[in-house]
Amino acid sequence: MDKRIYLCLAHMSGKEQAFIKEAFDTNWVVPLGPNVNAFEEELKHFVGQNKEVVALSAGTAAIHLGLIQLGVGTGDEVICQSFTFCASANPVAYQGATPVFVDSEEDTWNMDPVLLEEAIKDRIAKTGKKPKAIVPVHLYGMPAKIDEICVIAAKYDIPVLEDAAEALGSEFKGQKCGTFGTFGVLSFNGNKMITTSGGGALIVPDEASKKQTMFYATQAREPFPHYQHEKIGYNYRMSNICAGIGRGQMSVLDEHIAHHRHVHELYAKAFENLEGITLKSNPDGRFNANYWLSTILIDPEKSGTNYDEVRVKLDAKGIETRPLWKPMHLQPVYANNPRYVTGVSERLFNMGLCIPAGPWVTDADVDYIVEQIKACCTE
Ligand SMILES: *Cc1c(COP(=O)(O)O)cnc(C)c1O
Repeated sequence: MDKRIYLCLAHMSGKEQAFIKEAFDTNWVVPLGPNVNAFEEELKHFVGQNKEVVALSAGTAAIHLGLIQLGVGTGDEVICQSFTFCASANPVAYQGATPVFVDSEEDTWNMDPVLLEEAIKDRIAKTGKKPKAIVPVHLYGMPAKIDEICVIAAKYDIPVLEDAAEALGSEFKGQKCGTFGTFGVLSFNGNKMITTSGGGALIVPDEASKKQTMFYATQAREPFPHYQHEKIGYNYRMSNICAGIGRGQMSVLDEHIAHHRHVHELYAKAFENLEGITLKSNPDGRFNANYWLSTILIDPEKSGTNYDEVRVKLDAKGIETRPLWKPMHLQPVYANNPRYVTGVSERLFNMGLCIPAGPWVTDADVDYIVEQIKACCTE
């Protein structure tokens, strides 16, 4: 093959440039304007549950502003899913607080609710105070056991900030991921389900919370004719140009999600009877993943190969793959953080691989990828 197959490349609808042109023609080349408002309305409509949405410069910024509004500050602890991208946990550190890592369960690869409750109890016993927030993640677009997590969170009266950066369109029991917690986070980075080149959004409970989020996102400017500041603010608002890309992308969001699910289905058929290769799929009918990336586990004993060998061989064949996220509790930067681990995410990290699933991946590409993976197993 002469082309390279990527995990998830950005894919434009063709309408993006018209929205950007409109922004230029009307001179709205700033971090507010008609595209920002329209993009937020469309997202709000998409996620439902009477939520409000604020468009921001990144998903990381959304997590940060969520934590600030939950009152997370110096000396606090926040419980985070360990098996995730660093952006789920880093904003906790920005606030001078400590991420406490909780391992995953096998069904969804996301935060283990049983371990979550153990962690809460143990933190209270050890520190004399409750964690300030809980950050579960819907990793690779697979919904976490968010109902159980929310029940435990409610029992201890700790708010949930849901990291749905990879899970735009994923559903648990028919409800969109990102709408279960007090706050939900979306990302529109270049390789996510849709892109605004870079960007994110905070899903918030109501209009007042939307106003407060916008206040913090625009340097916490008080309502005076001069610039008056009583709080520390941030420059986190999405620009009207990026939101123009977002509006174009919203017109193909459903198609993108359908395509990711279609690719997953092709992999599911292909790997059904392949010894040693297990494709991650919805554990039961309550889960409806967007399958942002398809992921496989490679059992070294049964397959005769391993994730790193497959990665290197596929790379040579023009196929991009990537190891699963390295758990935060194994990251040097978080070496001294409290952790509640069973070894699940570490085991997944040591045998898993993300394989291409984006809008540019064709049925023929899937055949080719499967063929190359099979070749690794039989060599
Ligand atoms: C991408 C991502 C983020 C951060 O989003 P950015 O828009 O890149 O800042 C947060 N959490 C997870 C799990 C992600 O994959």
